[in-house]
Amino acid sequence: MKRLLWIVLAVAILGAVAVNQRHFILVHAMSFSDPPALAEPTDEGARVRWHDDYFTVQALDENTFAIGEPRYYQQNYSYLIAGSERAVLFDAGPGHRDIRPVAQALTSLPITFVPSHFHYDHIGNEITFDRVAVVDLPYLRARAPANRLQLTLEEHLGVAEGFAIPTLEIDEWLAPGSLVPLGDRTLRVLHTPGHTEDSISLLDIESGFLFTGDFIYPGPLFAFLPNSGMGDYLQGADTLLRGSPTRARLFGAHRVSAPGAPELDTTDVAQLQSALRQIKSGELEGEGFYPVSYRVSSRLELLAEPRWLQNWTPRHPASAQ
Ligand SMILES: [Zn+2]
Repeated sequence: MKRLLWIVLAVAILGAVAVNQRHFILVHAMSFSDPPALAEPTDEGARVRWHDDYFTVQALDENTFAIGEPRYYQQNYSYLIAGSERAVLFDAGPGHRDIRPVAQALTSLPITFVPSHFHYDHIGNEITFDRVAVVDLPYLRARAPANRLQLTLEEHLGVAEGFAIPTLEIDEWLAPGSLVPLGDRTLRVLHTPGHTEDSISLLDIESGFLFTGDFIYPGPLFAFLPNSGMGDYLQGADTLLRGSPTRARLFGAHRVSAPGAPELDTTDVAQLQSALRQIKSGELEGEGFYPVSYRVSSRLELLAEPRWLQNWTPRHPASAQ
């Protein structure tokens, strides 16, 4: 009997370790040592031009550009948003190639780099920028008393492609709900956690362009990473829907197929919100064990942890945004 108790205890401890480490087991399983091979150049149609043999540029209007990396297997899209006084570069890709000359060829204004979140495929890694602005959340501020933010392995995940964890020199903190004036246009910062705790979206108030990072894009959305949270995701969907005009054009940070930048609209966010509510209530069943795949719509799939590991408590109060 005593022996059985020991066995039960040992299994419980091993189970707990496995649960706490599950993300890292996954990240290491996904890791590769060599840089990923480049895909063949894609046919991007007439609206997109190749900047060189790697980057593409697509003008969304006169002063707004989607900069694509269609040959990188994750097919990243970053966005240059220029006003009359300064420009914002929302995301910088993984940094296998330097995105700065691409952005500088599109504007002569000073450029502020704003990451949608801190994953290695958005932060640019070894690339440095003149100005950096990040979301102002209490736990990030507390870690950066001199405005130097050392990212964590969990936030960055660069181990998957052999990147060292960078330290960000921060010039500007962007409070959720705050405005970022660029001169003749203004962006609003929306805190949209879910994919990660620190994820933001940027709304261009005038044009209705809404840049959503990894929170939403056409394809599989990742809600099972170390910084992910299902309660956060629902909060993020609520915030996006409340904060954006119905005519908004959404541009995400990845796509699954050519041509052009990954574009969605607010209907997609409403479908995501509805699916999240149904997952929470148990009405929507997923497929698979880890991650579990929930079908949101023909364009969207949400990859989450199994139900018993899902955390439905938002980590930050929804601010007035
Ligand atoms: Zn990400």
